Amino acid sequence: MTLPDIIIAIDGRSSTGKSSFAKLIASEFSFLYLDSGALYRAVTLFAMERGLIAVGKIDESSLNAELEAGLDVHFEYVDGASRTFIGDRCVEEEIRTLEVSSWVSPIAAIPFVRAFVDGKLHEFGSRGKVVMDGRDIGTAVFPDAQLKIFLTAAPEIRAQRRFDELKAKGQDPKMEDVVKNLEERDYIDSHRETNPLRRAEDAFVLDNSRMTIKEEVEWVRGVIQGKFGILE
Ligand code: C5P
Repeated sequence: MTLPDIIIAIDGRSSTGKSSFAKLIASEFSFLYLDSGALYRAVTLFAMERGLIAVGKIDESSLNAELEAGLDVHFEYVDGASRTFIGDRCVEEEIRTLEVSSWVSPIAAIPFVRAFVDGKLHEFGSRGKVVMDGRDIGTAVFPDAQLKIFLTAAPEIRAQRRFDELKAKGQDPKMEDVVKNLEERDYIDSHRETNPLRRAEDAFVLDNSRMTIKEEVEWVRGVIQGKFGILE
């Protein structure tokens, strides 16, 4: 199936399987995959390493100055997989720790951080043939995206996925910490003032709690065929 030069926006709460789904769509249709959460995570890691988050507070004016000076956060393909870089350093592993997860939502709630990330997404994605995942892609970043999907999954399934993901990366999380982090991020992401997480009215909703990734791809192929009138 060959798709036109469209933008596919995938939104949803943390650990609803957005990135696995988006990556699969990208490889299925030869699209570029952009992980907006990774950019927020990279900004968070940068702020932590620069000491801009201390005693539970974010030094917003210094962070703003760093972003205005042009922090180089981008993606590169390494061995066929998209990886997140700060300058010439691959930070793909470091941005996925529970420590970064615990600061990323407060950082992502800051309007100038959102403007910075949105600018990057427009720079990387405006040529089309791109699939992006995040919280506000279909509502705020690319409200004209031709295909919008909102993923959901049951809370216990999301927590188990996140737990397994951290374990697989060699980390040793406690389930209660994972649950707490998901709840906190859900709350902050959906209550912040600037572009909170919500479903775009024209998004297709997919609850993937009991679906295999293969079934998800079948589902999206059906949606695409119906929406764009494309036959095999
Ligand atoms: O998708 P991921 O869980 O890696 O995103 C990390 C965090 O980045 C989210 O919890 C959310 O606070 C923030 N985010 C956001 N808007 C997006 C993508 C991510 O606020 N479009």
